[in-house]
Amino acid sequence: MIKNFRAVILGAPGSGKGTISSRIVRKFEMKHISSGDLLRHNIQLKTPLGLSAQHFMNKGQLVPDEVMIGLILKEIDKCKSGSWLLDGFPRTKKQAEILFDKAPVDSALNLIVPFDVIVDRISKRWIHLPSGRVYNVDFNAPKVPGIDDVTGEKLVQRDDDTPTAVMKRLDVYSKTLGPVIEFYKVKGILEEFTGKTSDEIWPMVFKYLSSRMTPISQDVKI
Ligand code: AMP
Repeated sequence: MIKNFRAVILGAPGSGKGTISSRIVRKFEMKHISSGDLLRHNIQLKTPLGLSAQHFMNKGQLVPDEVMIGLILKEIDKCKSGSWLLDGFPRTKKQAEILFDKAPVDSALNLIVPFDVIVDRISKRWIHLPSGRVYNVDFNAPKVPGIDDVTGEKLVQRDDDTPTAVMKRLDVYSKTLGPVIEFYKVKGILEEFTGKTSDEIWPMVFKYLSSRMTPISQDVKI
């Protein structure tokens, strides 16, 4: 068993990375460090870092490596004597290299969901914009089609949730994350989990992590 277990989690948009990450930190004593959440927090507080990052985020671009590396290393420094799970970082090979240099990672968890499954799932997603409530026609349908259960207001589909837009996002993901995945493969710490849904992937992730860390409870259910 590793005392302080350090992991990064990788996965395409729509791969269920958020769901799996939240299950991990509920079942294991790990701090969840999400680069997107940290940036949004800085934007909310209007910090100089937040203001400059917002400019890139609004354009759908990556925030420069120097800014991101500084932000994440500072956060990691706060939990020197604990386990952590990095989510959304690294996004480039340079980020992966510097992270490995400063705070060696024990494991890179890569979630693999076939792209056609992701496209299908996202194109069935409907959102209640004012609250952010998300529905899926297949497994979390609203009681009345197209209507929010709580307010009775109309649901919408995000412009970037159409099959063509999702395919484009997945293509960008493969091109940018490919070198990061390769980096961890060469280091011999890449752990891949393949499935169609988070419920299919989660027991495999739980089993793997349980072999490295003691879970808060042995029960795979959350
Ligand atoms: P996310 O919530 O992870 O989808 O991140 C939202 C946005 O924050 C991304 O589209 C990027 O603009 C920025 N961002 C998050 N993490 C990183 C990172 N590791 N490197 C560069 N930009 C990032």
